[in-house]
Amino acid sequence: DISVFNTVPQAPPDVIFSLTAGYKADTDPNKVNVGVGAFRTDDLKPYVLPVVKKADTILFNNADLDHEYLPIAGTPSYTKAAARLILGENSPAIHENRVAAVQTISGTGSIHTGATFLSQFYKKSKKCYISKPTWANHRNVFALVGFEVEEYPYWNGEKRGLDYEAMLNTMREAPEGSIFILHACAHNPTGVDPTREQWQGIAEVMSEKHHFPFFDCAYQGFASGDLDNDAWAVRYFVEQGFELFVAQSFAKNFGLYGERAGNLTIVTKSSEETKRVFSQMEKLQRSEISNPPAYGSRIVDIVLNDPALYAEWKENLKYMSNRIIEMRKALFERLTALGTPGTWNHITDQIGMFSFTGLTASQVKVLKEKYHIYMTDNGRISMAGLSTKNIDYFAKAVDDVVRNV
Ligand code: PLP
Repeated sequence: DISVFNTVPQAPPDVIFSLTAGYKADTDPNKVNVGVGAFRTDDLKPYVLPVVKKADTILFNNADLDHEYLPIAGTPSYTKAAARLILGENSPAIHENRVAAVQTISGTGSIHTGATFLSQFYKKSKKCYISKPTWANHRNVFALVGFEVEEYPYWNGEKRGLDYEAMLNTMREAPEGSIFILHACAHNPTGVDPTREQWQGIAEVMSEKHHFPFFDCAYQGFASGDLDNDAWAVRYFVEQGFELFVAQSFAKNFGLYGERAGNLTIVTKSSEETKRVFSQMEKLQRSEISNPPAYGSRIVDIVLNDPALYAEWKENLKYMSNRIIEMRKALFERLTALGTPGTWNHITDQIGMFSFTGLTASQVKVLKEKYHIYMTDNGRISMAGLSTKNIDYFAKAVDDVVRNV
C-alpha cells in the first residue's frame, strides 16, 4: 500500500537553525557564532536578565498562583501594559479607547494572528509588501495565509544604507490600500532604520495611498537602549491618524526567547470598531491556540506593572544595548587598524542586534571553512556573537577574506 504521504516533498531546512546546528557540531576551539540573533554576554553565554530572575522569584513565592487557563486574548494587565509600552502613556488612541491588544505566541505569533485577521477582514488589497531584504518569516507567514507577497526596496548595497527614494517610489506605485510590513526599529537584517524625517515621508506617502501599516517591533529598547526612542515611528503613525497593527515580541528585550511572550496591539478609528475587531481576534485566537501560554507573560506583566522593576528592566536593557554598541566600535576600530580594504563606518552607524557587513556569499563560505565563523550567506552578523575574547580573531579573519576572496 502506498503511503498517503507519498507525495510530500522534502522542505529545505531553516537557514538560521541549521547554521546553529553546524556551529554546535563544530569542535574547533576558536569557532564563532554570529548567525543567530540572541543576546550573549561577553563570555558568550546566554543572559538571563536580573530583573527577570526577580520576577521569577516573585512568581515562585506566590502561594496563590494557579495553573488555570488564561483568558482567550490573554491577561488584560499584560496586554494593556504591552500596548502602553509601544504606544506611550499619553497615546491619544489609548485615551480614546481605540486600542485593542491580544496576547500572542511571541512576535511570530503576533504577526501570524494579525496576518490571519487581515486575510479574513481586510478587503482593500491582497498584496502585502515586505522590505528587501527582511526577516525570512515575514514572507513565510503572509504567504501561508494567502497574501501575494511583494517586496519594496530597502537596502542599497552601494550606499550601504537605506534606498529611501526607491522605497517611496514603490509605495507610490503599489495598489491603493496595500499592506506594508515595517520594522519599527532595528531593521533585521540590515541594522538600518529610516531617520525621523524619512519616517515622516513614508507616512505621507502611505497616507496618500491609504496603505495599511503593519509594524513589526521585535527590538524595542534593544536598538537604542531607550524604549521611547525605539517606539517613535509607531507613535508618529498613530499621531498621524493611521489605523495600524503592531506585532510585539518580548523575546529579545526580556531575554525570554523560549517563553513565547508577545502581543498584537491594534489601533482603529473608534472605540466601537475596536470592540468588533477585538471580538473577531478572540474568535480567531480560540480556533488557533485556544488561549496563550502563561509563564513568560506573567514575568513581563510583573515587570511592566511595578515601577521599581520597570526601572531595573531599563537598566538591563541599557547593559545589553551598550554591549552591542561597544562591539560595533571594537570591530570598526580593529578593521580600521588592520587597514582592511573598504569603508566600515556602516558597522557603527547601524543599529540593533545585527550588522549587514557587505561580506559576499563566497567570503562567508571561506569564513566558515577556514575560520569556523558562522553567519548567514547575506553577510549579516549578530553583534552579540562577538566579545572582547573573539573580536581580534574575527577581525583578522574578515581582513583575510576581504583581501583574498
Ligand atoms: N520580527 C523580527 C524582525 C525578528 O528579528 C524577530 C526575531 O528574530 C521576530 C519578529 C520575532 O521573533 P519571536 O517570534 O521569537 O518573538
